[in-house]
Amino acid sequence: MRRHVVWLCVLALLGGLALVVIYRPIAHLARTAHDDRDEREPIEYGHVDDASRLNSTPVHRIERIMSDSENQEAVLVDLLAEARSSGRRVAIAGSRHSMGGHTIYPDGIILDMSGWNEMSLDLEDSVLNVQAGATWDEVIDLLDAHGLSVSIMQSNDSFTVGGSISVNCHGWQFGRPPIASSVRSFRIMLADGDVVRCSREENAELFSLALGGYGLFGIILDVALDVVPNELYEIDQRVLSTDEALRVFDDDLAGREGLSMLYARMDVTPDSLLDELILNAFFVSSGVPKTKAGSLEDGEPSNQALSELKRIIFRGSSGSDFGKSLRWDAESRLAPMVLGRTYTRNALLDEGVEILENRSAGTTDILHEYFVPREGAEAFVDRVRQIVTGHESDLLNVTVRQVETDEDTFLRYADGPMISFVMLFVQDRNESGEEDMVEMTRELIDASLDLGGRYYLPYRLHATREQFRRAYPRSDRFFELKALYDPGELFQNQFYRRYGPVADPKPAG
Ligand SMILES: Cc1cc2nc3c(=O)[nH]c(=O)nc-3n(C[C@H](O)[C@H](O)[C@H](O)COP(=O)(O)OP(=O)(O)OC[C@H]3O[C@@H](n4cnc5c(N)ncnc54)[C@H](O)[C@@H]3O)c2cc1C
Repeated sequence: MRRHVVWLCVLALLGGLALVVIYRPIAHLARTAHDDRDEREPIEYGHVDDASRLNSTPVHRIERIMSDSENQEAVLVDLLAEARSSGRRVAIAGSRHSMGGHTIYPDGIILDMSGWNEMSLDLEDSVLNVQAGATWDEVIDLLDAHGLSVSIMQSNDSFTVGGSISVNCHGWQFGRPPIASSVRSFRIMLADGDVVRCSREENAELFSLALGGYGLFGIILDVALDVVPNELYEIDQRVLSTDEALRVFDDDLAGREGLSMLYARMDVTPDSLLDELILNAFFVSSGVPKTKAGSLEDGEPSNQALSELKRIIFRGSSGSDFGKSLRWDAESRLAPMVLGRTYTRNALLDEGVEILENRSAGTTDILHEYFVPREGAEAFVDRVRQIVTGHESDLLNVTVRQVETDEDTFLRYADGPMISFVMLFVQDRNESGEEDMVEMTRELIDASLDLGGRYYLPYRLHATREQFRRAYPRSDRFFELKALYDPGELFQNQFYRRYGPVADPKPAG
């Protein structure tokens, strides 16, 4: 009898302890889910904004370019003629996920390219011919049905092809340069309405200027892109201290055959900031990848519930040290036990940004990216740790990738092999939030430049002109060449106003 009582007490104690241990995470996630409402206010009539939600600007008008209307190219020619004669500027927009007003010009004409999205596949030559407004999401749908995939793209599928090549994006495809290396050719409409084809052989200078050219040279109409097989990958996931990660990568991963995709995610819990990372390496596996349609027919569980859980864990880490440590535990310990070990390439690439986006009224998510030569990577992490802890903005995510040398674009960030650090901050949408972000961004840019690195251009325009020039030593020539191709400066945006020949010290963005 007495033994029973002791056992009951022990069980009650263990049960109580278990409740205490799981109560806090469950309560935290339940609260996050409850508060996760879409509070974003609609963009004011006659204005445009971008993914920063800090750039609302009145414009003359927005022209939606549609592929299904007749003679659309002739319509574009007329539109450029009208802009030239009325002295208006033209800014070009894809999905508007850049954050510095790169798609915006005050009182200008905004070309919304997102309806310009037809495509066809040349199976014999493994090339996709795609109009510039198509998003990766649409591209993957077509490629997947043919057992194919995108060669190089970002980590999400919400972006347009035109916006992606105009910033020269990169992703976590291992051992690959940025996207320009997978572009065979494109057609571009210049300021006078002429359409020219550009490739490494034809109009090669314009090819290198418009790739990563931020819409300053003309309207990219359509693009011929390399495509690759959709493969099945097996994940090799390890939790490592940041100090040992590069060594493990060199000794154990980089030389292994079949390494196709690679990224790491760093711990952002304040007490252990950037001390550890989860290294995710994807190796080609021998199985046959199912198509997206095939997976649905087989009745595979929908990813919906998993995506929602992922969102709640992620958003619950905003503004909460507990949420950050919960997310780290979930991703470093729980996820390897519950998630599958094989993935198709297309499943990895086919995820929209909306799954993780910030929907609150008072804050916004701001991306940064720094490229550092490998020998400076450890020192950069130390500098980031110091800088970030001295500022208000909340560091929500850091992923690390590797990018090979870019041989194609004029305004290049990867002029050698680089390790890239993508950082996501939550910023208050008010003056002090902005001031703090400006200061911190400049410190982070200096840290990268001092180590021979660069920073990425599609985000906020906080870099000083001097920092911009240091990071992009060919920028003066870039703008001289813009003046040759577009003497009337028809194509403009906030990026051009900030760093172009005539500086506007404070354009929105
Ligand atoms: C959540 C998130 C995740 C991201 N992840 C990555 C990543 O993994 N890797 C990476 O490299 N980047 C990443 N980015 C940055 C992203 O690649 C760029 O912002 C890209 O430009 C987005 O494409 P878009 O269609 O939204 O372009 P937009 O923002 O609409 O346009 C970007 C630039 O391209 C120009 N442009 C657009 N279409 C045309 C056209 N048809 N002709 C000429 N110029 C044109 C615009 O004028 C503008 O200057 C990310 C951004 C966000 C918000």
